[in-house]
Amino acid sequence: MIHVKTTEEIELMRDSALVVSRTLGMLASEIKPGANPLKLDKMAEEFIREQGAVPGFLGMYDFPNTLNWSPNAQVVHGIPNNEPLKEGDVISVDCGALKNGFYGDHAYTFAVGEVDEAVNKLLKVTKESLYVGIREFKLGNRVGDVAYAIQNYCESHGYGVVRELVGHGLGKDLHEDPQMPNYGKRGRGKKFVNGMVVAIEPMINMGTRRIKQLKDGWTILTADGKPSAHFEHDVALIDGKPELLSTFQYIYDALGVTSNEEEEFRAKKTA
Ligand code: MG
Ligand code: MG
Repeated sequence: MIHVKTTEEIELMRDSALVVSRTLGMLASEIKPGANPLKLDKMAEEFIREQGAVPGFLGMYDFPNTLNWSPNAQVVHGIPNNEPLKEGDVISVDCGALKNGFYGDHAYTFAVGEVDEAVNKLLKVTKESLYVGIREFKLGNRVGDVAYAIQNYCESHGYGVVRELVGHGLGKDLHEDPQMPNYGKRGRGKKFVNGMVVAIEPMINMGTRRIKQLKDGWTILTADGKPSAHFEHDVALIDGKPELLSTFQYIYDALGVTSNEEEEFRAKKTA
């Protein structure tokens, strides 16, 4: 069942999404060669609590940490450990927070120092595919329209689109209806209505779309050992159009990146 949100609930969800956005922004300054994942996980936990929220993933289905920490060939659901980051790594960081009864859920794949050109392209295309998908999250469209757009965009670059893990509705539960796959057919699936909030999150592999899971019962990695990327935004459907609740702006501020990619998904301020 889809839980449609009121305007007031969407504002609370924006607050939760921004807790996570600020947390990823804080981490952006810390992610560099030599950084210790468990230390960053602890920093993220404290930073979330300082904002009057609680970590959304810690303890959820018995997950042991605040961050999903998935380097290189790991797709998602990696567990932070003591293995320091190395120059040339990519690290997918997925983070959740619960505040005022609502979840934020937001992810970014960071380059650690200088990475290969081909890996940089994977990050760029995966992030672009997120916006290609968000653009289709509009009144009258269906789940399949977002799914198809992401799949088509990524496959046109020769990348593998993970099937087994999907985006989702978001609200009082971390995972609500509908499921938001990153592959599918146009015009299929649940129809979008105003007040829906979803987490759209392409998980894209440089090589095969096939995945495997480590014996830890969590970590998902690519079957061919090639890198993977993951970007996730929380998006509300307001007045027929997608509006971002989360933002990468804190990350860009930390990294000195200039970008207007989110502009089209912001509420237009009336003078
Ligand atoms: Mg997430
Ligand atoms: Mg999610």
